[in-house]
Amino acid sequence: MMQIVPAFGRIGEENAFAVLARANALAAEGRDVINLGIGQPDMPTPAHIVEAGIKALRDGHHGYTPAVGIPPLREAVARDIQRRHDVAVSPDAVLIVPGGKVTMFMAILMFGEPGAEILYPDPGFPIYRSMIEFTGATPVPVPIREANGFAFSAEETLGLITPKTRLLIVNSPANPTGGVTPKAEIDALVAGLAAHPDVAVMSDEIYGTMTYDGQAHHSLLKYESIRDRLIYLDGASKSYAMTGWRLGWSVWPKPLYDAARKLAVNAHSCVNASTQWAGISALDGPQDCVAEMVAEFDRRRNIVVDGLNDLPGVSCITPKGAFYAFPNIGKTGWKAKKLAATLLEEAGVAVIGGPDFGVHGEGYLRLSYANSAENILRALERMKTFLSERK
Ligand code: PLP
Repeated sequence: MMQIVPAFGRIGEENAFAVLARANALAAEGRDVINLGIGQPDMPTPAHIVEAGIKALRDGHHGYTPAVGIPPLREAVARDIQRRHDVAVSPDAVLIVPGGKVTMFMAILMFGEPGAEILYPDPGFPIYRSMIEFTGATPVPVPIREANGFAFSAEETLGLITPKTRLLIVNSPANPTGGVTPKAEIDALVAGLAAHPDVAVMSDEIYGTMTYDGQAHHSLLKYESIRDRLIYLDGASKSYAMTGWRLGWSVWPKPLYDAARKLAVNAHSCVNASTQWAGISALDGPQDCVAEMVAEFDRRRNIVVDGLNDLPGVSCITPKGAFYAFPNIGKTGWKAKKLAATLLEEAGVAVIGGPDFGVHGEGYLRLSYANSAENILRALERMKTFLSERK
């Protein structure tokens, strides 16, 4: 009898994919399903990026590339970081990976082992906890609270650090809440980390281009004091609507870079060459495509928040980043996962229950506004009818 190692009994997944599968199955039966469950831009990849990918294939970029990525893309990432965060990083510290998830996988593999503790946001991207458990490390949730605008609390985060803590995962702008942690709170967090020099930090900034209401994204790369233990995670999936291309990049402190490179050699060899050339076009090309997408998300964000606050028993604070709203459904009387499942089956609206993002997600739903304003309005109307009739 085959015997798979026990770690696979601990690995989780993203329920968003299961919701998507169910929504598609219902649609295949002829049901009109509106999908507010999915975490990817609904716009196509900008045309000049697509053309760059096609040109790379026509130009014969068909082979392996260096495992760390092609030099011009690593240089383009360094320029992007200089332009957006006003921070100089060496292209030699940049690793090109097949999606943001791969950076997270590598970082958690480097620090996770039985006896180690890893701090991660809850509610947060479900793969953090899944990967931590896979390594046998102890996942320590950092509560992300509505009362705090769904930002990290420096005080609460620092209070959870113990001598066993090996890695702290930070995510702002955040999935699933849309929370953006303000500069003052990041200042306090980084200042407090001075007392914990053995704790590495992974900053997931995949939604870094998407903030609203003048709330600036403040990169952890800006703090020289933690640069020797900071892993910066970013990528093209969200900012350039490139989820299916699989292109991410990370910046590693020198002592970790070679370990990450070796993992890349062992796991995937390299990101496919044409995708890397498309990535150069994304980063070095005109950025108005990003600004236009963010402006469109901003418009929909206001529609979603207004509509949610108009639903019986629901309240929603205005998210400052990403493309998610995280309404509080406490006064509807429904448990979040039950409500999400029933809304899909009975009202044809796909959303995700907060508990799919952690124990602190109970009492909330996640709605993605990566769908047309028209569909968002139709979904909100259906939710209103449903919640009015089914108390
Ligand atoms: N980090 C967060 C917070 C995300 O929400 C996602 C995707 O949903 C990722 C990372 C992974 O992105 P990628 O598709 O580039 O692997």
